[in-house]
Amino acid sequence: MTGADPKSLTIIGAGLAGALLATLLAQRGWRVEVFERRGDPRLQGYAGGRSINLALAERGLHALRAADAHGAVLEQAVMMRGRMVHPLGGEPQLQRYGRDDSEVIWSVSRGELNITLIDAAEAAGAVLHFDQGLDSVDFDARTITCSGNGETHVHPFNALLGCDGAGSTLRAQMGAQRDLGERTEWLGHGYKELEIPPAADGGFRIEPNALHIWPRGRYMCIALPNDERNFTVTLFMALHADAGNDDPDFDSVVTAADARALFERDFPDTLPLIPELEHDFVANPVGSLGTLRLDRWHLGGDAVLLGDAAHAMVPFHGQGMNCAFEDCVALADCLESHADLATAFAAFEADRKPDATAIQDMALENYIEMRDLVDDPEFLLQQALERK
Ligand code: FAD
Repeated sequence: MTGADPKSLTIIGAGLAGALLATLLAQRGWRVEVFERRGDPRLQGYAGGRSINLALAERGLHALRAADAHGAVLEQAVMMRGRMVHPLGGEPQLQRYGRDDSEVIWSVSRGELNITLIDAAEAAGAVLHFDQGLDSVDFDARTITCSGNGETHVHPFNALLGCDGAGSTLRAQMGAQRDLGERTEWLGHGYKELEIPPAADGGFRIEPNALHIWPRGRYMCIALPNDERNFTVTLFMALHADAGNDDPDFDSVVTAADARALFERDFPDTLPLIPELEHDFVANPVGSLGTLRLDRWHLGGDAVLLGDAAHAMVPFHGQGMNCAFEDCVALADCLESHADLATAFAAFEADRKPDATAIQDMALENYIEMRDLVDDPEFLLQQALERK
């Protein structure tokens, strides 16, 4: 493939958005090359780094259907028909997402999903290069420099599609050409992942078909089921102490004993479920959370950003991946309906930016709802009335 080939597109990142976009574009006749910083997860195992599982909603499923990848994904997914709220000292209660099981969301493993989409991209004809992380772009010479495993390669390109996530290198390279109006609003809260393993008989230890929430005011735990019959538990709380309250924070809950004391006080019903609490709490990293805002997503017809590279968001609406998947379909459609790349990228940005901004704002609002309001009877009554 040559960089001058007008029917060729180069995707940076073979994560969730990159692999789906490669599939959609290859299916529509584009010659697609993908450069991914990590090794091939099918050979080396999946090196995640982010959440172990994710909530897949109708927005994301719709995009997977467009690539004919939904069947393979749903085979490995666990249905969640509502949120199971665990009040302190009370009985858990299921709040359904819809009237019946036609309105549900799905818990999917990030690693399994990524591998399914990488397989789909290759089957559609895309060429994937692993262990080739983008280092720099020469927009005049129309070449990219990628490296990995001690080797550096220069590749020509026709146009670059940035699916390299929240810390996007392509975004930084584009920003050096033209101010993208980039700013990140840090939430000040972080997360840590823990595990509820399968029961002794191999089954799930708690209700599998629900997204579990332990709301505690300004912090919370959630748990999503995995098809291996375990749950990934995520503790969300402030990174640093707040002078205005006595809430726990990741600066002061550090040791195994700190973790045990926190869970004994605030999440006592989870203690028998998380046998490795102390070990996992100390071993697993604290992730930080923020909202990335950009004024511009594209550089003429040379490069465009999508997914987290364009609009990373806090995870409380479970929509970052779903929104990234919608971007992929929208960009593939724009590339089909516009003759030149600059017009297609501009149309894509005009179509998706308002939606992405709205979803980013809803994700911030939903943190308050999940950690505080889901066990508030007045709030629940109001919601029920609004649904009528
Ligand atoms: P990524 O998934 O980050 O993929 C980027 C890819 O680019 C990676 O493969 C990376 O290795 C590669 N890469 C990076 N740099 C380079 C480089 N220089 N060169 C080449 N390759 C590179 N979303 C939901 O929809 N539902 C949820 O329930 C949900 N839960 C979440 C929970 C947590 C705790 C977090 C942090 C996020 C959650 N999200 C959720 C958001 C979701 O993870 C992201 O929106 C999604 O991963 C975005 O996909 P992406 O492909 O844009 O980026």
